[in-house]
Amino acid sequence: MIAMNKMNWILEVDLENRQAIIEPGVVNLMLTQVVQDQGYHYAPAPSSQQACSIGGNIAENSGGPHTLKYGVTTNHILGMEVVLPSGEIIEFGGPIEEALGYDLRGLMIGSEGTFGIVTKAIVRLTRNPQAYYTMLGVFETIDDATSAVSNIIADGIVPAALEMMDNFVIRAVEEAFSWGLPTDAGAVLIVELDGVEAGMLDEADQIIRILEAHHTREVRTAKDDEDRKKL
Ligand SMILES: Cc1cc2nc3c(=O)[nH]c(=O)nc-3n(C[C@H](O)[C@H](O)[C@H](O)COP(=O)(O)OP(=O)(O)OC[C@H]3O[C@@H](n4cnc5c(N)ncnc54)[C@H](O)[C@@H]3O)c2cc1C
Repeated sequence: MIAMNKMNWILEVDLENRQAIIEPGVVNLMLTQVVQDQGYHYAPAPSSQQACSIGGNIAENSGGPHTLKYGVTTNHILGMEVVLPSGEIIEFGGPIEEALGYDLRGLMIGSEGTFGIVTKAIVRLTRNPQAYYTMLGVFETIDDATSAVSNIIADGIVPAALEMMDNFVIRAVEEAFSWGLPTDAGAVLIVELDGVEAGMLDEADQIIRILEAHHTREVRTAKDDEDRKKL
């Protein structure tokens, strides 16, 4: 058993090049907390981000609610230092994108620790969006909610988040957290736009029209950051 949780130092933050060098035991959310006041975050954020480590994220190629727009871990790890089972220490990838040769960095990501132990990683930092627009559509049926998803994508809109919960999950979440989700709904669809403020309301209107065309019975929108976190 090798525990990596004490290798939890953020070794270098290079905002100019939008990257950081970290040890694998750094907790996912901690990395974002360290850079967020300077306008950056670490994009792949699994729902377990308060507890999971970047080393574990690399091993699992983790995503999160914003994967649709921002991709998964492999899109945000530029390079890494790895200790092979032989004890040899090697580097895959590096600070420069699209290095020549085989993408052994990509091979490591998602390999569940079977090829070696990651002891250092160069991660990409992402600019915080200027604005968000978060909404929740309530549907009688899963079919309506999933058709709305297809329609949003077909219209060329790429929301930052597009997540559906069916009735079983809605009731389980309500039982655990009492967030006011409609427990009689067949499905709810959480849609979040992010990016520059200009034009965002038009895109949100376009999405609301799509949700309505697919018989949403209600669209809830987040009025502030607190609302947004709840949704
Ligand atoms: C409540 C919850 C919500 C989740 N939500 C999401 C989600 O929204 N999206 C998503 O994609 N995933 C999600 N997950 C899964 C999540 O991505 C993984 O559980 C997480 O990435 C594992 O990280 P960890 O630090 O817990 O690793 P561990 O569970 O400790 O380890 C996971 C694997 O990684 C290997 N490993 C750990 N560190 C290293 C290292 N340094 N080098 C090599 N191998 C290593 C371990 O050997 C093990 O095989 C969720 C999990 C939970 C529990």
